[in-house]
Amino acid sequence: DQVANQIAAGEVVERPASVVKELLENSLDAGSTRIRIEVEGGGRKLIRIADNGHGMGRDDALLAFERHATSKLRSSDDLLTIATLGFRGEALPSIASVARVQLETRAPDDEVGTVVEINGGNMLRVEDAGLPAGTTLSVRDLFFNTPARKKFMRSEQTELGHVAALVTHYALAHPQKHFELHSATQSLLVAPAVADAGERLFQILGRDAFEAMIPVAAEQDFARAGLPELPPWKRPEDYEAPEPGAMRITGFVSKPELQKLNRNSVYVFANGRLIRDRLILHALTEAYRNIIPPTSFPVVLLFLEMPPAEVDVNVHPAKTEVRFRQNAFVHDFVRDSVRTALMNARP
Ligand code: ADP
Ligand code: MG
Repeated sequence: DQVANQIAAGEVVERPASVVKELLENSLDAGSTRIRIEVEGGGRKLIRIADNGHGMGRDDALLAFERHATSKLRSSDDLLTIATLGFRGEALPSIASVARVQLETRAPDDEVGTVVEINGGNMLRVEDAGLPAGTTLSVRDLFFNTPARKKFMRSEQTELGHVAALVTHYALAHPQKHFELHSATQSLLVAPAVADAGERLFQILGRDAFEAMIPVAAEQDFARAGLPELPPWKRPEDYEAPEPGAMRITGFVSKPELQKLNRNSVYVFANGRLIRDRLILHALTEAYRNIIPPTSFPVVLLFLEMPPAEVDVNVHPAKTEVRFRQNAFVHDFVRDSVRTALMNARP
């Protein structure tokens, strides 16, 4: 019901960037190769995302706004190895409960598309319409009916900054897809499909900054991490053995000459999923110790890959926290691989 939706919205929707995140993940889940985002007022007035994914038929378009009516969770096993990014079936109903939403969608094989309009959770309109294949979602006047939440949004520039950083993250993670981000007055990102993460980074940073980046690539068996330190009151055989499998790190880190004043240029992914994790930030700070001043941040694009059992990416639905099963191992592996890359690149 409406109240449950608004409560869920409190969990999932914090600000325009969290709406963009949910909608982007839906577009990626739908197999889109082109995603165009438009915002007004930093996303407070309008967020519009258009994709060329598999779209929805009319039944699915209506179901999409029902709570927990996800099309993505096929068995309870999927909870452990989530192949799709979204799986909770909460994002659309939550967003629609606190904004004015218009969905325009057509599956490629359908002749006619569907328009659905919902205001603050109230269905206003469902109609057939001639539409291109794919989905366009427009979210207007975020929190118009929850004034207390509306007050928590920041200035247009601040919200726009968060949206831009988020879209940049996703563009970096999916170099083979086309991304665009526009505000009413400027094009913030136009990134046509390229071959790999290196080319995408070049596209986004520009030549000079890209030339100040060093590649990182390392792999290590979790088995070599050893058992955790054992407190005396627990017998060794009571601990689970480490999962078989390896951890891999690939990506780019900046040379000392390329520094930023905030951490907005630290892009880290765990198994393809955007994370912003204290442990990893700490490992990076350690890697850069005495290389850049503690008051500045490197530019970092890192992809961590590990067996799914080693990382829980769903600690919180909207935030980007994760839990690693072997914290110390992950921390030291990231620190040491980055440090080694930096040392090897010294003239
Ligand atoms: P979830 O992503 O967790 O399944 P959402 O509330 O985000 O839940 O979306 C509900 C459903 O709407 C999805 O399961 C999907 O079937 C459909 N959907 C949402 N966005 C799109 C899109 N851009 N393209 C195709 N289908 C979509
Ligand atoms: Mg979703």
